[in-house]
Amino acid sequence: MPTTLKSFISVSPDSHFPIQNLPYGIFSSKNNSTKRAGTIIGDQVLDLALIEQRGLLKQCYDPSLALFDSTSLNAFVEQPRALQKQVRETLQKLLSADNAVLRDDEALRQAAFHAYADVTMHMPGKIGDYTDFYSSIDHARNTGVLFRDKDNPLLPNYRHIPVGYHGRASSVIPTNRSIKRPHGQVVPKDATDPIFSPSKALDFELEMAFFIGKGNELGEPITIDKTYEHIFGLVVLNDWSARDIQKWEYVPLGPFLSKSFATSISPWIVTLEALEPFHVTPRAQEPTPLSYLQFNKDFSLDIQLEVAIKTTKMIKPEVICRSNFSYLYWTMAQQLAHHTVAGCNTQPMDLIASGTISGPEVGSFGSLLEITFGGAQPLTLSTGETRVYIQDGDEIIMTAFCQGDGYRVGFGEVRGKIVG
Ligand code: CA
Repeated sequence: MPTTLKSFISVSPDSHFPIQNLPYGIFSSKNNSTKRAGTIIGDQVLDLALIEQRGLLKQCYDPSLALFDSTSLNAFVEQPRALQKQVRETLQKLLSADNAVLRDDEALRQAAFHAYADVTMHMPGKIGDYTDFYSSIDHARNTGVLFRDKDNPLLPNYRHIPVGYHGRASSVIPTNRSIKRPHGQVVPKDATDPIFSPSKALDFELEMAFFIGKGNELGEPITIDKTYEHIFGLVVLNDWSARDIQKWEYVPLGPFLSKSFATSISPWIVTLEALEPFHVTPRAQEPTPLSYLQFNKDFSLDIQLEVAIKTTKMIKPEVICRSNFSYLYWTMAQQLAHHTVAGCNTQPMDLIASGTISGPEVGSFGSLLEITFGGAQPLTLSTGETRVYIQDGDEIIMTAFCQGDGYRVGFGEVRGKIVG
């Protein structure tokens, strides 16, 4: 990717959305409440439905397919990778400083661009299934120390199998939506029987997730060397978790209501193509996993991650965690190869999450459970307030970006406020 690529739209070096990014999302605007596809450059959303209608993508596909004039990205993400790459290249050309088509057509620009501050972002598509892995070894270790055995925190399967569970797709929600504090069965301290109560241990989990592009047929696993052909792009994900409900319900089948009340995702899907310059060598794995999980071209990504909290007393959010996608033990390729190896089919826009992404050091923990050492060390904020878990009115803001040479490829933010 040439870093010298420049757009006629001005983009500051710390913007998440330079011409090198061009992620996809579904938006509506003040003057047009129809949900439709867009991309973002700087702080301007480009209406891709309009660009498609005007025939500016007709060298890539027949505009009557209406891949962008749609309330979801489902039809676009399942297109062949070659078509998607051609669309990306065409958009980069259209937006580049030396191309007059859009730059010099004032009327078209007026119609096609919207200030990001003036649009509403929606779900990027219809999610069929949602899966959540547990791919961060530091997170697994931190929680193992708290709940199992500090000398032997990892379960025996951890270094052999990418552990995951089937989540709930219907409650995946976009950014900037409030989340109602869940109620459920919790067991008070020193009691043996549960009571019905609002959760008093509401937590976040810092995760990233990928969307499936082209799916696979039932009974036909995706071999690990083909996995990246099936991954469309990534978002930041907050897996809201009610720890007190989780603690009582999770035996023996795992989390149920403690996770299914809400899962928030960032609005723009950043494509694998945009992330290519940020490939890094994955973490060493010991022991060597079984052969279906081995891939000599596998990669991780250098994506910097941040979590901030904004209480009602704060003027601006305060960062409480800095982590990195490259801390993950299991890669996306391994997650997807494992997910399908027994024959499970996947479909376009299935959502596959990493699990909480924690690092090894204090300051890089991706949940309040870990930050407060299970509640033993409450977090003190700059306002003097303390937190063990999230209070009503608190907003959690997650963001992620890759730092290039003079530019960033970022994901924007996923925000969510807890209300009583
Ligand atoms: Ca999770």
